[in-house]
Amino acid sequence: MSGFQKLFSDVALWTWRRSRWIHRRGVAAFSSCKPKVCVVGSGPAGFYTAQHLMKARRDVEVDIYERLPVPFGLVRFGVAPDHPEVKNVINTFTQTAKHARCSFYGNVNVGKDVSVQELQQAYHAVILSYGAEGNRRLGIPGEDLADVYSAKDFVGWYNGLPSCRELSPDLSCETAVILGQGNVALDVARILLSPTDILKKTDIAQPALEALMESKIRRVLIVGRRGPMQVACTIKELREMVKLPGARAEMLPSDFEGVPEALPGLPRPRKRLTELLLKAALELPTKEEQERRSKASRSWGLRFFRSPVLVLPNSDGTGTAAVRLAVNKLEGSGEAARAVLTDEVEDVTCGLVISSVGYKSVLIDPSVPFDSGKAIVPNKLGRVQQAPGLYCSGWLKTGPTGVIATTMNNSFDTARSLLEDVDSGKLDMSAAKPGAQSIRTLLEKRGVKPVTFSDWEKIDSVEMKRGESVGKPREKLLTVENMLEEAWA
Ligand code: FAD
Repeated sequence: MSGFQKLFSDVALWTWRRSRWIHRRGVAAFSSCKPKVCVVGSGPAGFYTAQHLMKARRDVEVDIYERLPVPFGLVRFGVAPDHPEVKNVINTFTQTAKHARCSFYGNVNVGKDVSVQELQQAYHAVILSYGAEGNRRLGIPGEDLADVYSAKDFVGWYNGLPSCRELSPDLSCETAVILGQGNVALDVARILLSPTDILKKTDIAQPALEALMESKIRRVLIVGRRGPMQVACTIKELREMVKLPGARAEMLPSDFEGVPEALPGLPRPRKRLTELLLKAALELPTKEEQERRSKASRSWGLRFFRSPVLVLPNSDGTGTAAVRLAVNKLEGSGEAARAVLTDEVEDVTCGLVISSVGYKSVLIDPSVPFDSGKAIVPNKLGRVQQAPGLYCSGWLKTGPTGVIATTMNNSFDTARSLLEDVDSGKLDMSAAKPGAQSIRTLLEKRGVKPVTFSDWEKIDSVEMKRGESVGKPREKLLTVENMLEEAWA
């Protein structure tokens, strides 16, 4: 070995030993007690963060607090009932919840029943994963008329969210307009137009199924500010619309000017999506498809380059008659293209308007830093800024974008940040923490009884049995009272 090689190998060995020493010292000096971590919210973010923490360290204990008596967040209350395969993640979440080092406390509204500060006193770290339960408004006159709903509430209604049980939308009109062209908009359009013979085999809430059986809606227009090359949905959801039994696509060929020419230069996923759009809008259908379309009694269409400016009331002012759309032109191109209003407007007659312009997170506790402009908790890699020991994951961390897989990755990142802070001593681990023991006492004093995971399993089994008797995978309980009754029966 040359002198240089020896020096190099000595340095490498020293560096390795020192890093082991720092690591061990870090763990020994700062983690003399078991890390007790609390997660707020039991959607994908909460469960994936908990899963990663427990997998990475054998001594971490995680308690999950959830506002509702039932877990899984938008997997239960957002994902469309005709997408049962997406809900399979519940199996993984269930394994996490049943892990010896994990506990679930449902029916605990953090910010109301217990404060974030109280949780911080009881745990070494608190991870906020309570999603995006607010709703972006359109900000146009007429938005609060009857027959105008947010997609968030409409989705909650057909998915059995207790707070949306009373929605009872009037589906007696012929045309519905959905404002927004993301996947949620397409979910809503599909549910409005799907044959109820398909829906009745899903876990759709019974009142919604009954209303859809009586629905007179035959046409759904899905309106977006920009053009076909900026549409925000994904190919799977668009394909489902194109193939929807009993429905045909009706697009405006003029919306697609210049699109075939631009197609070769588009990046891959965008190109595939645009090809499918072009096929639905411009291509001559095969004979078989022609036949299918001619038999279809319902239609749907994407309307591009349009921004809502006003919802017009009907003659007696009790409901909606039409939505006024401004015609836009695009400035720039590609994903960054901007919609700019022109002077041209058009009125679309409709009796139902659903605004699908996005969810947004809300502040649940005044002690938590919150960026109200972005509607997120300000954070760096999941570490809440200026709040040691406080972390965030999921839609609360990033804003309401991405699918469950995206949420999983950002939750794993937050878990990694927390573990790094344990190892480096950044997280104060000098004293043991009481965890759920002290929180349970607080809750008891306040008359709040948590729902455990085995309580949830009782609700689960009641729902499955109710579903079985009507040929559905599950018949959801629709009120918190009913859920609690079954949990504690
Ligand atoms: P959430 O799932 O919203 O979970 C947050 C949890 O926190 C909830 O259980 C809530 O009750 C709880 N909570 C709220 N406030 C409090 C409080 N104060 N105290 C305690 N707990 C509280 N992704 C897919 O991959 N496939 C799909 O088909 C799909 N469909 C979707 C359909 C819709 C309509 C929507 C909106 C989203 C869909 N997504 C889909 C995206 C997916 O649902 C999200 O990526 C994911 O749910 C975000 O997870 P989260 O944990 O951040 O939020």
